[in-house]
Amino acid sequence: SGTLYVVATPIGHLDDITYRAINTLKSCDLVLCEDTRHSKRLLQTYGIETATRSLHTHNEHQLTPELLAQIKAGQNMALISDAGTPLISDPGFPLIEQAHQQGIQVVPVPGPSAVIAFLSVAGLSVQPFTFHGFIAPKQNQRQAFYQHLLPLNQTHVFYESAHRIVNSLNDLVLVLGADAQVSVGRELTKRFEQLFIGSAEKVMADIESDKNHQKGEFVVAVSGQTKARMHPMDAQSRRLARQLKPLLP
Ligand code: SAM
Repeated sequence: SGTLYVVATPIGHLDDITYRAINTLKSCDLVLCEDTRHSKRLLQTYGIETATRSLHTHNEHQLTPELLAQIKAGQNMALISDAGTPLISDPGFPLIEQAHQQGIQVVPVPGPSAVIAFLSVAGLSVQPFTFHGFIAPKQNQRQAFYQHLLPLNQTHVFYESAHRIVNSLNDLVLVLGADAQVSVGRELTKRFEQLFIGSAEKVMADIESDKNHQKGEFVVAVSGQTKARMHPMDAQSRRLARQLKPLLP
C-alpha cells in the first residue's frame, strides 16, 4: 500500500514551505488540492510537476473511496489545501478518517497554520487554548457563541471573515465586555500584516477606524483576565444571558 501525506503549505508568504514539503509533493504520484487552479502558483514556483486532482468539500465524500483504493494499490498521495494545514478549517476529514479505517499509513508534513502562527505572537496565554474554526455568521448565533465562552478562563481562538470582523468585534464587546483581552491578526506573513492587541474596546476601535484595517484574512483571540471573570456578570450581561439561553445547544 502507498502512503497518504498531509502537507502544510504557506498561509501567505510563498517562502513559508519546508524542504520536506517540496520533496514530498515532487515525489508523490498525485497531489490532492482543494483548488487545483489556486495551488498551481505554488507548485509552479517550486518546480513541482506532479499530477493534481481537486478534493474539496463538495466532492470529498464521493471521491474518497476511489482515492483510498488507489493508495491501497500502491500510489503515494499528498493532500494540500489552499493555505496552511489541511483539515484546519479545511477539507480532508473523510479522507483521513477512512484512511485510518482501512489501515493506510497517514503521515503529517507539518508547516504553517494561521492559528498557531498567530498564537505565537498574540501576547495571550496559550495553555490552555480552544480553537473554534470559523464562528457562526449570523448575529444571534454569534452572540450565543460569545456567551458560551463565559466565564473566560482560557484563550479562545477563531477565524472570522473580513465582511464580519467589525460586527463580530462589536458583539464580542457587548457580550464579553469592553475589558476582555483581545488580539487580532490580519494578513499574517503577507504585505499588510498587522496585529491589534489590547482591550476589546480598543481593538474594536482600531479596526473600525480605518477601512484598510478591515480587509484580508483575520484570526481573533480573546482571553481571560476580564471583568467577566473577576465579578461574575453585570446587569447587562445577565439580561443578555437570559435572551441567549434558548439559542444555546
Ligand atoms: N488551513 C488554514 C490554516 O491552517 O490556517 C486555514 C484555512 S481557512 C479556510 C482560512 C481562514 O484562515 C481565513 O479566513 C482566516 O481566518 C485564516 N487565515 C488564513 N491565512 C491567514 C493569514 N495569512 N492571516 C490571517 N488569517 C489567516
